[in-house]
Amino acid sequence: MGEGGAQSPKDAPSRNRTGVGDLGYNWTPARPAGSVRLPPPTSKPPCSLRGRGKPGENAGVKIIRYLDRAGQAHHASEQPDGSALVIAGDLFGAHQVTARRAEVAKLLAPVAPVQMICIGLNYRRHAEETKAKIPEFPVVFFKNLGALQNPGDPVQLPTHLASHEVDYECELVVVIGKTCKNVPRARALDFVLGYTCGNDVSARDWQKQFGGGQWCRGKSFDTFAPLGPRLVTRDEIPNPNALTIATILNGERVQDWSTNDMIFDVSTLIEFLSGSTTLPAGTVIFTGTPHGVGMARTPPRWLRPGDSMTVAIEQIGELTNPVVLEGA
Ligand code: ZN
Repeated sequence: MGEGGAQSPKDAPSRNRTGVGDLGYNWTPARPAGSVRLPPPTSKPPCSLRGRGKPGENAGVKIIRYLDRAGQAHHASEQPDGSALVIAGDLFGAHQVTARRAEVAKLLAPVAPVQMICIGLNYRRHAEETKAKIPEFPVVFFKNLGALQNPGDPVQLPTHLASHEVDYECELVVVIGKTCKNVPRARALDFVLGYTCGNDVSARDWQKQFGGGQWCRGKSFDTFAPLGPRLVTRDEIPNPNALTIATILNGERVQDWSTNDMIFDVSTLIEFLSGSTTLPAGTVIFTGTPHGVGMARTPPRWLRPGDSMTVAIEQIGELTNPVVLEGA
């Protein structure tokens, strides 16, 4: 496995354990008693995304991002009849769903992230299949923002800095809607704008052998972060840890599990990641992948040109990307 400390953080921050969370996990950051300062109560995340419903109606919203025929990017709210209505304003600030129909020339990843934080080894069965120890703390790494890819656009197998071991990873992706810091677990989901599907495409050779013990190299090639096809607002998904999640490779369900197997659930991740660390609105969090990755198969199943990958998550939809060679 990758960097040893990731699985056994002996050098983890000072810990004065005082309790056990819902998942048997909790921590108390080292600080003098009485110095705990929580951020003031905040207003709810954007609530003008209520579609065309009655005022105050708490209907969820499905958000896409797209290019119009002039090449301009917009957000829009998907409607039950299959059309979409343009969202005016800033998705992370003041905005509203207009009555104007979106003319979608090309679908984009549903958000342009300000950073992509990822969690490794966050499903019990996946940690077991990789023979990794169950982590004591969330294993954090980052994906290069330039790796973002749109729904339907190809994932490129690197040929210049070549990889021969590229793998798929279906992941529930959380989009932070309000800038936050030191968020208590009980209020963590208040800061979520919504959820989408992600594929944490990973070159295992560069992740494990040639990356100096760091995972970022192998997970940050161009096109290695497909997101989409839509963002579903958090009011539609009150419990993000009760969703089926799958990867379908050329029609075969190679990963097929539930987000309830996460070692650190979404609320715990937000509490941890926001600890002493500002999470700006527009942060996306890849929350880890369940078992069934190509690397753990016998023999390993690496991605090949011509493959078609689909990440499917209950209540969100399907994110499909073909696989091609870089430069093809
Ligand atoms: Zn991953």
